Amino acid sequence: MRKITIIGAGQAGLQLGIGLLGHGYDVTVVTNRTGQQIREGRVMSSQCMFGTSLAHERNLGLDLWDEVCPPVEGISFTVPDGQGGKAFSWASRLDAAARSVDQRVKMPAWLEEFERRGGKTVLREADVEDLEYYARESDLVIVAAGKGEIAGLFERDAERSVFDAPQRALALTYVTGMTPRDDFSTVSFNMIPGIGEYFTFPALTTTGPCDIMVFEGVPGGPLDSWKGITSPEEHLAHSVDLVRTHLPWEAERLGDVRLTDPNGILAGRFPPTVRKPVGKLPSGALVLGLADVVVLNDPITGQGSNNASKCAASYLASILEHGDRPYDRAFLRETFERYWDYAQYVATWTNALLGAPPEHVLKLLGTAAASPRIARRFTNGFDDPRDYFHWFMDPVSAENYLATVVA
Ligand SMILES: Cc1cc2nc3c(=O)[nH]c(=O)nc-3n(C[C@H](O)[C@H](O)[C@H](O)COP(=O)(O)OP(=O)(O)OC[C@H]3O[C@@H](n4cnc5c(N)ncnc54)[C@H](O)[C@@H]3O)c2cc1C
Repeated sequence: MRKITIIGAGQAGLQLGIGLLGHGYDVTVVTNRTGQQIREGRVMSSQCMFGTSLAHERNLGLDLWDEVCPPVEGISFTVPDGQGGKAFSWASRLDAAARSVDQRVKMPAWLEEFERRGGKTVLREADVEDLEYYARESDLVIVAAGKGEIAGLFERDAERSVFDAPQRALALTYVTGMTPRDDFSTVSFNMIPGIGEYFTFPALTTTGPCDIMVFEGVPGGPLDSWKGITSPEEHLAHSVDLVRTHLPWEAERLGDVRLTDPNGILAGRFPPTVRKPVGKLPSGALVLGLADVVVLNDPITGQGSNNASKCAASYLASILEHGDRPYDRAFLRETFERYWDYAQYVATWTNALLGAPPEHVLKLLGTAAASPRIARRFTNGFDDPRDYFHWFMDPVSAENYLATVVA
């Protein structure tokens, strides 16, 4: 039986580990936190996941919350006019509902499921020495440690990384009591040019259904203002203040919001980074990076967990197809490149949205207010961003597309 060790019990590590168990592999997951510690800890993400990623989970029998997690039925998109009103606003439905299950709910349950299906877990913060040990003991070591320090083992890919500094100040606020939208539930996305983005959507957290408020502040601007906020109550009050100041129509939904729990808050920032997928240990042994370890995107487009699910599914297929052959450098590199064939489009689109929106993008998104066809296409691109490269990403294809829509 082939033996695989995975460092990190997050979306990618556990999904891949459980997938491998289903095919008779001997799998160990090394985690630096128990299920209970994850459940009782701080929120880590807003983790809104779209149809294709949810299907990867469903294929492994990991869709455990469909009955209790409120669906996200569409995307709504608003750009303010700078005078307290909206320049434009529209909403469109997703072909398949998205869902956000708090990772504090999901990962402890998946850890239990992993063990129930025969997986082994080891509780420790893996360092390079541990990796050496697992490299000797296993046929393959995969590092799925997200933004953990150990990801530094993988060299930054300067050609594929566009930024070397954080592009947004990030904050999350998990709340109950938000007024639902009138028509259908959405990721309610507000783009405030030059200032940043605010979006909110329903989710399932440790206390039940909730809504997540996500702030993406351009560094140095008014949404980059979380420094010095120490208590959960101040964090909530500041969240409500920011929305009142910049987005009055969203403030109307906040009448009675309360934090889901004192750990339902987060503030931080990181530079979007692509890393080389093969890490070399001092002994010369090779290890493979998975998901955020190798392609870390800003959350502005809500793709990280989706990428993690798709990366895990892609690596699973590569490993199964490889059979009993050795896991050499060529295999490790090829496994990543197969995923990068997809992920490069997500990274390019996400990085583009971090810049000032170009004229053709504002024109497309503005025209979407009068064209359900454009709105529907933009909305469903979140499930597979490769489509944007046919009509959204450059001015020429945007003009061509607009001409067909008008015709
Ligand atoms: C503010 C914010 C909002 C986001 N919103 C969304 C969204 O709406 N939609 C979306 O798709 N994505 C979103 N993301 C991104 C998404 O959460 C991540 O991309 C995704 O969780 C990555 O999965 P992963 O398995 O690679 O890593 P992680 O989920 O980070 O899992 C890594 C695990 O490894 C563990 N670990 C780390 N180091 C070690 C070690 N040395 N030894 C053992 N264990 C270790 C960690 O504790 C963790 O449990 C958001 C992220 C942030 C920060």
